[in-house]
Amino acid sequence: MKISRVETFILTNQLEGSFFFSQWEYSERKICIVKITADNGLCGWGEGYGPANIIQAGIHHLKPIIIGKNPIEQETIWFEMYRKTLDFARRGVLTAALSAIDVALWDLKGKFFDLPISVLLGGQNRQKVVPYATGLYFSKSHQLAKNLAEEAEHYVDQGFRAIKMKVGLSIKDDIHHIKSIRKAIGYDISLMIDANHAYSLREALKLARLAEPYDISWFEEPVSPEFYNQYRDLRKKTSIPIAGGECEYLRYGFLQLLKNNCLDILQLDICASGGLTEAKRIASLASTYGVEIVPHTWGTGIAFHAALHFIANLEPIPGRLCSPDFYIEYDRTENAIRENLTRPCIKMENGYIKVPQGSGLGIEINEDALREYQTTAFI
Ligand code: CA
Repeated sequence: MKISRVETFILTNQLEGSFFFSQWEYSERKICIVKITADNGLCGWGEGYGPANIIQAGIHHLKPIIIGKNPIEQETIWFEMYRKTLDFARRGVLTAALSAIDVALWDLKGKFFDLPISVLLGGQNRQKVVPYATGLYFSKSHQLAKNLAEEAEHYVDQGFRAIKMKVGLSIKDDIHHIKSIRKAIGYDISLMIDANHAYSLREALKLARLAEPYDISWFEEPVSPEFYNQYRDLRKKTSIPIAGGECEYLRYGFLQLLKNNCLDILQLDICASGGLTEAKRIASLASTYGVEIVPHTWGTGIAFHAALHFIANLEPIPGRLCSPDFYIEYDRTENAIRENLTRPCIKMENGYIKVPQGSGLGIEINEDALREYQTTAFI
């Protein structure tokens, strides 16, 4: 089997309502996905996390490396892509392009062997995971705290047992929102906060201290991903677990977070940090530090299912007879591409999402949706 075709697709969806977080506003969703086809007709799908047009250019830069290769040997392909980009792109969107290709190769490999990716990764340590709702973004509403409380109640009504909210507007606003949401959902629902690295160490510590009485399950990206020491210092000074890693790349980057004792929860993005091949290595690395993993997951059903299979394979740290449930991030903000591109639809039942047992990612691409959202493509 040899790789014969590499095609990219830019999918765009203008949102009905824009929303924002501590860094910028979203008014559209724009995603680059890749289809890799072999000479026997089998194909695999991948997705990159980051600026879609740059990822698309990156995939086409890497294309000559992979055409003609055996897709089963995805680790050797990974190494050649890494080696030939190392000198000028050790981190960032070119790694996301590599990640998209790697995920597509795993999907293809799964289809060739008629096995789910999680089994190919070494086996399923669980067949279902607990989605946590990512939402509670900011809007320009005059009654934002009330709206956020209602949105949180809506997630609870849908069956979510854990919810992540945005912070990073100002400490005063953040605490007002945390109080309002806690009052609405009570203390049986897990609540996480995410600042998207909006704060200085001093500000993050102040917010953490004020938020501690509200039983916060983790404080995500409190400070800039550039400041490993600040993560470590904050972690020492608050009882709230510290999470981060969605802006980190490759095992070499994650080693910095781990050896500096920055995190309780490591949040690699499979579609940015090096694909499933590298995610497996990062998980091995994290296991040597006893740090748990809840991947950052954004984008379409392709990225979501890559994360589902990866999480199914993760070992619990420590192991025991009754292992706790594992989380998957489930973005609940408006995204018609996520809802329509892949089939079957993502479905939560009794608070869980099942790991697909079909071959590869276990999903099909809805070609009508692909055409509907496609805006530009090189080929
Ligand atoms: Ca985040």
